[in-house]
Amino acid sequence: MPIAGIYGPDDFGPAHRRPTPPAHRRLSNAERARALPMPSLEWTPEVERATAHLYERVKKVISPVEWPFMAPYIKAINELKKTRDAVILAHNYQTPEIFHCVADIGGDSLQLAIEATKVKSGIIVQCGVHFMAETSKILNPDKTVLIPDRRAGCSLASSITGADVRLLRERFPGVPVVAYVNTSADVKAEVDICCTSSNAVAVLESLNARTVIFLPDQYLAQYVASKTDVKIIAWKGACEVHERFTGQELRAYREADPTVQIIAHPECPPDVLAEADFTGSTAHMINWVRNKRPRRVVMITECSMADNVQAELPDVEMVRPCNLCPHMKRITLPKILDSLIYLREEVTIDPLIAEKARRSVERMINLKN
Ligand code: SF4
Repeated sequence: MPIAGIYGPDDFGPAHRRPTPPAHRRLSNAERARALPMPSLEWTPEVERATAHLYERVKKVISPVEWPFMAPYIKAINELKKTRDAVILAHNYQTPEIFHCVADIGGDSLQLAIEATKVKSGIIVQCGVHFMAETSKILNPDKTVLIPDRRAGCSLASSITGADVRLLRERFPGVPVVAYVNTSADVKAEVDICCTSSNAVAVLESLNARTVIFLPDQYLAQYVASKTDVKIIAWKGACEVHERFTGQELRAYREADPTVQIIAHPECPPDVLAEADFTGSTAHMINWVRNKRPRRVVMITECSMADNVQAELPDVEMVRPCNLCPHMKRITLPKILDSLIYLREEVTIDPLIAEKARRSVERMINLKN
């Protein structure tokens, strides 16, 4: 069914204010007081030996020239994790040296948050963007959740605020609201239920409503609308990484190699999805490649995910149209080390907002179960 309408901040007048990403802070006195000593970051034969098994995992995507710069950080981070009793969660879009060499758990944002509830460690270091760290905190209120760079934002999450949701509810009274997990805690607290790109249709239909407000990704909304008879009112948000792909680009890949398989994320515009052989969430895309083992595949999503899959499946030739997420790339090995040494940047959420947001996330999780 076609989208019933797409709204944005301009529809609610000039008083509307956009959130600005918080700046990275100087060290506080408390952080200095609890700091651990800086480990040696020299490339030595001992570091080479201790990290050799990790290099095996990534040698297809990280050159031997780069490794001596990364390995000392990797060794130090893996040792500090034990000292701090910390667990590292890494999103599929993190670079291979993080995803394959220091992360304890990798996956999409929801997988990470759910897995985090099962670990015993008191500290979670979230290698991803800020809304993901917030989701981990929402589901793990008693744990310390750290993000190595608090400026790691997201164009989708910053496209909408809790105040926008309240205005939408005023304009469409009684219409239930579904929020993609790529939203701030403030927004999650104002909606009825959350969804991911893999369960969006099921979540929408579970509400048994003829019309639903679906936010903030207009392209995911259009994809979902093509799969359901529920009328959708959408928001003008977009992922700055996925909206850069074009159908023309995909046709060029196919013309160059008619046997190539093309798989795309539903945050891409409709003309891109129309050209793809398969559309699915990051987890679904990875499983598709694992199961089908195509000779050659183009992954239409963030670039590092293709690198991570390439490291895992060296027999599949990955064509990497490189659209990097600048927010994901703020997370680096030196910043993860810094996070563990000083226990920063801690993610905090107002307890009332966290409680309301938890209800929206848990409603989705319970639906899944
Ligand atoms: S890839 Fe897109 S949706 Fe994911 S964090 Fe970056 S801007 Fe947000």
